[in-house]
Amino acid sequence: MNNIKFLDLGAQQKKIKNFLDDNFKNVLKKSNYIMGSEVGELEKKLQHYTNSQYCVTCSSGTDALILALLSLKIGKDDFVVCPSFTFPATAEAILITGAKPIFVDVSKTTFNLCYKNLENVLQKYKSKNKNIRAVIAVDLFGLPANYNRLKKIAKDYKVKIVSDAAQSFGASFFEKKVGAINDITCTSFFPAKPLGCYGDGGALFVKTKFIRDKVISLRAHGKSKDKYTIVDVGLNSRLDTLQAAVLLAKLKIFSWELKEKEKIARLYTKELEEYCDVPYVPKKTKSAWAQYTIQTNKRKKVLEYLKNKNIPTAIYYPIPMHLQPAYKKYHNKSFKMTNSLKLSKSVFSIPIHPYLEEVQKEYIIESIKGAIKYAR
Ligand SMILES: *Cc1c(COP(=O)(O)O)cnc(C)c1O
Repeated sequence: MNNIKFLDLGAQQKKIKNFLDDNFKNVLKKSNYIMGSEVGELEKKLQHYTNSQYCVTCSSGTDALILALLSLKIGKDDFVVCPSFTFPATAEAILITGAKPIFVDVSKTTFNLCYKNLENVLQKYKSKNKNIRAVIAVDLFGLPANYNRLKKIAKDYKVKIVSDAAQSFGASFFEKKVGAINDITCTSFFPAKPLGCYGDGGALFVKTKFIRDKVISLRAHGKSKDKYTIVDVGLNSRLDTLQAAVLLAKLKIFSWELKEKEKIARLYTKELEEYCDVPYVPKKTKSAWAQYTIQTNKRKKVLEYLKNKNIPTAIYYPIPMHLQPAYKKYHNKSFKMTNSLKLSKSVFSIPIHPYLEEVQKEYIIESIKGAIKYAR
């Protein structure tokens, strides 16, 4: 078999072609490429879908994080905690605002922030009177972090929790959808994310009108309602009308896509759990399955075998942030990063998209079983 794709945007495009054509035609007819009516329509639909208070779109997931931190007035002399095992944008957003990141280790089962380590770090920094303002919780691979625990910690240590939900749009935690769980949630519409557009895009979900207005101002240069008065130093970070048109078309099949991915995840877990470490999903938590990530301490051999079987795989992430050349100077060596380090050497992700055929899924499962046996 040699036609398995890691992601199949082509098959998805076929399914939504009619919606796309109509939406594009409308945008082209009106020529309103910046803040056309589709942007507001999308924000309303996303707010409704998540049952969040407010939705504000922006030009990427990275900008969503920057806008979130700026709206909380985080900057110079502030510290923000984030996991070491994450995509670089999480830490990058912190430094762009002028604040400094503090890396914390992740849980070896959920891959999300480890609460014990988090409390330990908060205690140490707070006792030194360091200005820790926020914690960025990453919902890695689509699995929401444990927000019950996080909210308690936030209260105890007087910090804000910012959700980096770039990979978890569509997921839920205790019956609440991502966007409605936490006061401030950032997501990404990069093409490979659970809900992706045809370029860069992102959104914030926020609880208060005050923060919503702040973000709306910051995403357009910090202007006030009167567009010639600038009240903050902001960004140029609006979502394109054309991207909103793509997302409106994709939203129509999004729930179906999520269900299909859930079915594949269940099948993979049932078939593979005796062979390797499969993703752990805590109770009352639903993943958006941005990735289906498994672990093996024989990764090199397993990947070599799968490559020969023409099965595409990916490693997220081979280098934890606290070891990245541009970021390692922010790493406090007294904090152990055992799990981040171990995961960076053992994880890999396999195809999990709704357009996989039955025979392809079976072939993937059999090949992974074969790979694990071969590598032993
Ligand atoms: C993709 C991603 C981002 C950044 O999103 P962009 O839209 O690519 O800027 C941030 N955090 C995490 C965890 C991501 O996976």
